[in-house]
Amino acid sequence: MRQSALFISHGSPMNIIEDNPYTQSLKRLGKSLSKPKAVLIISAHWATNGSIVSAVDKPETIHDFYGFPNSLYTLRYDVQGETTASLLLAHLTHAKIDRRHGLDHGAWSVLVHLFPNHDVSVFQLSIDLTKPSQWHYDLGKTLSILRDEGIMVIGSGNVTHNLGDIDPDRDTPTAAWTKEFDNAFADALIHNHKKISDHTLPYFNHAHPTLEHYLPILPVLGSQNDGEEITTIFEGFQHGTLSMRCFQVG
Ligand code: ZN
Repeated sequence: MRQSALFISHGSPMNIIEDNPYTQSLKRLGKSLSKPKAVLIISAHWATNGSIVSAVDKPETIHDFYGFPNSLYTLRYDVQGETTASLLLAHLTHAKIDRRHGLDHGAWSVLVHLFPNHDVSVFQLSIDLTKPSQWHYDLGKTLSILRDEGIMVIGSGNVTHNLGDIDPDRDTPTAAWTKEFDNAFADALIHNHKKISDHTLPYFNHAHPTLEHYLPILPVLGSQNDGEEITTIFEGFQHGTLSMRCFQVG
């Protein structure tokens, strides 16, 4: 059965251990999902020159974040890696295969809430920083083939992400530009994907001084079939300027 594609804004690594409306929404979603054959994650935290697919039996948990409480660095997300679908994806996209890459925190910070029983095998596709945004959107057509095979596709990044403009207080009031960007994004999600792939949303350059947290949105959107619905999983903000918007395709 064809599986859904999800885009999850992951925000701060503190969301791994915090109980808040955002993490509660991911836990609820996880309970409602039909179990996929495997999960493919495209994360902001695995960006490379050229496309790479991981094909690892037992992926390590990578703690690729700095300055957080010690308890976060002892957590692990032990899960089976996926080595069959990853070879199919490498074949379809001409990506290189990496037999060692573990799970970066963009991947496992989301999986701990969606699949707390560690019972779905996981593989990752890197973001190719040498390719333009339209290429990442078009990649969705290939990922749609995997969805037809029962594989869930999850993009993990953030709808807005400017680390130079965040407030340490998670619940500080949201900046006006962030709300405006997020509103325009939500509208374009339904009515005009071109505005998203062309970076023409208001305040785009301030919302994304670098693209790695934005690019995982594009293949998720590009995997939408005619007639498939896009639904909101979560909308809200953290740290003043992080849109935590999450959505589901199909
Ligand atoms: Zn991140």
